Amino acid sequence: MKAAPEAQKRLLDLAGLDSQLDRLAHRRRTLPELAEIDERSKQYARLATQVIEAETEAGDLAREQTKAEHDVEAVRTRADRDQKRLDSGAVTSPRDLASLQSEIASLHKRQGDLEEVVLEIMERREAADTKVTDLVAQRDEVRAALAAAEDRRDAALQEIEKEAGEVRGRRTAVAAELPADLLGLYDKLKDQYVVGAAMLHGGRCQGCKVALSIAEMNRIKAAPHDEVLRCDECRRILVRTAESGL
Ligand SMILES: [Zn+2]
Repeated sequence: MKAAPEAQKRLLDLAGLDSQLDRLAHRRRTLPELAEIDERSKQYARLATQVIEAETEAGDLAREQTKAEHDVEAVRTRADRDQKRLDSGAVTSPRDLASLQSEIASLHKRQGDLEEVVLEIMERREAADTKVTDLVAQRDEVRAALAAAEDRRDAALQEIEKEAGEVRGRRTAVAAELPADLLGLYDKLKDQYVVGAAMLHGGRCQGCKVALSIAEMNRIKAAPHDEVLRCDECRRILVRTAESGL
């Protein structure tokens, strides 16, 4: 392939712009915010589940407390009713009186036991409510941190995209100056090797850094200026410039 030496040198500008684009793409993929967002999202999901579990437990205990309070109330009502019957003097037989007094005593004992149950449930409920409050606070904190990381990621991506847009604009302009066959070869090589063209400098291909043999250098020296050369080692387009030391 033949191409004017000036066009060949422009390939190096193109390669420089392409490597800027590659660096920007790499930055985009490796933003520290991405790892943070991933971690925070997992934390958030974990805490959200724990909040639901804790809320369920607190709700169950609230219902349990209501039921236990009703039980206390039922026993109290029965004891009051018995006490009224006793106080009314309607029961006169000593046997019935003894039985009534014994029932009242056992109802008082039962009421005391049930009140203990209510207290025990209230303690557990208080602990469960505290747990809900703590977990909700942790979850909200993680959610805020996640949102902040997402904002930082979006700002960074916007910044990168702005820079990439400028570089792509410059690349389009440089590519427009190049003959189609040379650009086609460069793009094909770029797809294969990431970098499509490299400078010959200090006897080395700057693409693969391999030193050229004396025979190879002699062949390059003898080659016409418009000959498109390729590195024997890495197959990239080898561009000769004033700095190539030929
Ligand atoms: Zn090479």
